[in-house]
Amino acid sequence: MVFLNGEFIPKNKALISVMDRGFLFGDGVYEVIPVYDHKIFRLDEHLNRLQNSLDSVQITNPYNKDKWREILLELTTHSNNVNQSLYLQISRGADTSRKHSYGELTPTVFIESNSLNPRSKTNLENGYNAITSSDFRWERCDIKATSLLANTMYSQQAKEHQVEEVILHRNNYITEGATSNIFIIKNNTLFTHPTGNHILPGITRDLVLESAKHCNLSINESAVTIDELLNADEVWISSSTREIMPITKIDKQAINNGKIGKHWSKVYDHYQQLKHA
Ligand code: PLP
Repeated sequence: MVFLNGEFIPKNKALISVMDRGFLFGDGVYEVIPVYDHKIFRLDEHLNRLQNSLDSVQITNPYNKDKWREILLELTTHSNNVNQSLYLQISRGADTSRKHSYGELTPTVFIESNSLNPRSKTNLENGYNAITSSDFRWERCDIKATSLLANTMYSQQAKEHQVEEVILHRNNYITEGATSNIFIIKNNTLFTHPTGNHILPGITRDLVLESAKHCNLSINESAVTIDELLNADEVWISSSTREIMPITKIDKQAINNGKIGKHWSKVYDHYQQLKHA
């Protein structure tokens, strides 16, 4: 079952107009929200970010928070998976002809639930590989927009290089991953790019900062250079579906001799506690 414009229907019956601006222009925004043990994790934070994305592109939010909660909760009950990942997207809607500018339209709302299978700690302890690439995305990376052409190009690059993530840099400074936020540890301090228009304000990013504080790490929200990344004690990526993953090789160069770090393990454990709190 999926949710489309007010109805719960089978996925193969969910159809939208070819004039939908989401299809024609990628004119829409989205969210990905994890569900653990049937409970939606950090829903308020995701709905706040959704509102910011909608406001940024002048799409009226079709529902208030209570209605979103009701719809999302109902959708989770249509699935047998205890852990789920909710994908919701709102496009500006369908127009009568194709033109870049827009008037008043009825937004198209689509939501689906997929199973969520975060990797086990034992698995994560093997570490993951990444590559770096120049960040050629636009100047509004803070909007969770469905126009993801650059991100699909990076993800394909990751697939071709058989790595977990592409780490992006702008003017020699690390911004974020193609689908994640980036953290480095150097001398017991955690560094991550500050929020602003060059990164997505990840919900997991906030949880990593919360967990890192709990684990007595110093926090420095400032960008690091490519060189600092490659010489870090630890490198992690974070996202709602991948949680916190240690990166132990970047551009074929080992980080911390290819071993995962002690801080990752503690922060990861605290994050697991938050999930089940
Ligand atoms: N940055 C980008 C570009 C992303 O696509 C994502 C998630 O998809 C993130 C960061 C992490 O955001 P969150 O932790 O809210 O999933």
